[in-house]
Amino acid sequence: MNKQFDERITHALTDDHLHHAVNIATDRLRTKKAQALTKIDFAQWSERGREIREHVISNLDYYLTQLASEVRRRGGHVYFCADTTDAVEAIQGVIQSHHATKVIKSKSMVTEELHLNDALEQMGVEVVETDLGEYIIQLAHETPSHIIAPAIHKGREQIADLFSQVANRKIASDTPSLNDYAHEVLRQKFIEAEIGITGCNFGIAETGTVCLFTNEGNGRMVTTLPPVHIAVMGMERVLPTLADLEVFMNILPRSATGQQLTSYVSLVTGPRAHDELDGAKEFHLIILDNQRSQSLGDPDFQEVLQCIRCGACLNVCPVYRQIGGHAYGSVYSGPIGAVLTPLLRDDPESAELPYASSLCGACYEACPVKIPLHDMLVKLRARNVSRGFTPPAERLAFQIYKKTFASPKNYRLAVRSLRSVQKWLMKNGEFHSSIPILSSWSKTRSLDGLSPLTFRERFAKGLVIDQITEKLPHVARKE
Ligand code: SF4
Repeated sequence: MNKQFDERITHALTDDHLHHAVNIATDRLRTKKAQALTKIDFAQWSERGREIREHVISNLDYYLTQLASEVRRRGGHVYFCADTTDAVEAIQGVIQSHHATKVIKSKSMVTEELHLNDALEQMGVEVVETDLGEYIIQLAHETPSHIIAPAIHKGREQIADLFSQVANRKIASDTPSLNDYAHEVLRQKFIEAEIGITGCNFGIAETGTVCLFTNEGNGRMVTTLPPVHIAVMGMERVLPTLADLEVFMNILPRSATGQQLTSYVSLVTGPRAHDELDGAKEFHLIILDNQRSQSLGDPDFQEVLQCIRCGACLNVCPVYRQIGGHAYGSVYSGPIGAVLTPLLRDDPESAELPYASSLCGACYEACPVKIPLHDMLVKLRARNVSRGFTPPAERLAFQIYKKTFASPKNYRLAVRSLRSVQKWLMKNGEFHSSIPILSSWSKTRSLDGLSPLTFRERFAKGLVIDQITEKLPHVARKE
């Protein structure tokens, strides 16, 4: 494991605030989800959602072309961006063409992929996040630690301290006081903004509509108050028709926040028409590839593009619940992040993320579109081995393991050798935690020594039979 990843995990494991905040929040989300699922035949809706997403991803070229032509037909502008640089330049181009200096944003994970705020601030633009969680982490100069709850790692006291610092006065830590402060600051930002930037939960190919699920109303304000709206979407976030949206209105909020319906579902179809009273006068849609197309047609990983970013897999993941989101060191954390990040970045550092999993399969059980994340994690580990991304010591260890277990003679020799030296390596019946090659395992877990006799030796001496007849006296012993 690389040192930085190891350090981030160690740091997270010793952060009691983080454990407390993440466990309380994920428990609450899981409980609410469980309650919300009982109100409908969720399995049926979920299966329909999976079918739609599978169909879209298998025909992505067709639906993306349809989406783009519908947006253009309604007077919008579309930019297909191969990578993050292309996307940032496209957004900067729109901002520059308006000589704009004030931008407001609603929550968008794909703009986190672009590191958009930094890029815009470097060109002298003031960017303000208007989702409360995103606003908190922007003030704290942090990144989101959960797909749908970016400030999940922070408790109310920590948020109150942060707001008090920025406001230069005491802000109480109760929810109404925190909300009031955010409203007070953000209201003015909404009024002054020249450009609004949003993500896109789904782009509807049939109508060229961008759909946003929000709970604070900020998404609607970002899309209607500033004269220019830029929506940014990953290329996979397409649905064929408006009728399909009904399925995802049923499964996304239930899986994400345990709500039967999100407070606001905003549908933006191109710029404001002549007979409309509100909406941006200009509409731009940025469609980002950023390595997503590499997974298209790949039988091992194509299904990951079916993800609807509900975050349910994070809430049930025993690893995420221990280390939170920042330890992953990537925009997307938890099981989906451990699969998606190596596919999007394809570098040795991200290649370590698939090991941040116990492979228990809870993520698959929780996923509303049934993405086999646990299988993909194993396949990514196998890919690492075939690419030589594993450390030399690990490769050597597995070569020795293979040679030992491939031959009964080698196996017996290895067992005899280890048994003859283990007494110097053990303390109180366990391997010593200071043995270098074993220490990363044995410092937190017990590693028992080898039994004095192998099963074959015990069998040859009649000890196995003795044990059986002792426990099962009715079993007759043949002499
Ligand atoms: S992988 Fe499934 S559970 Fe995880 S965020 Fe995506 S849709 Fe939700």
